Amino acid sequence: MAMTLKAPKTVVHTPNVPSVVQAAQIAIVTMKLAKVNRWEELQARDVAELRSIIRWDPEQLELLQKHSSILRVLQVSPAVTVYACPACERFGFTGPGAKTGKCVFTEGCDGSLVRASTMNFKPPAKKPKPSSSST
Ligand SMILES: [Zn+2]
Repeated sequence: MAMTLKAPKTVVHTPNVPSVVQAAQIAIVTMKLAKVNRWEELQARDVAELRSIIRWDPEQLELLQKHSSILRVLQVSPAVTVYACPACERFGFTGPGAKTGKCVFTEGCDGSLVRASTMNFKPPAKKPKPSSSST
């Protein structure tokens, strides 16, 4: 792969999950793209340099600002990410292991936990359908 052309990479995050989970995913994907392990390291980098590597849309910047308090806790490796309940909107931090299932934050809450992915979100619609039918 030719790495000479340095077009900024677009961060793609999972929609339709609690905004804190979206913010965590945007942050972790960004840290991975910038090859840093923690948000402080990212903040120490030159903003112009970062903008030449990574591209956020206005919605993503808003999410990062809204949830700026979680950013310093996140880590790429070993992974520290966010999991949240869409029903009661409470959240916590978790390691690399999957944290799914029923809400653990509020007693009697029926929400299902959502964990922030550490990978760019791939919209399912973009995947080409595997076509096994042939003539
Ligand atoms: Zn809940």
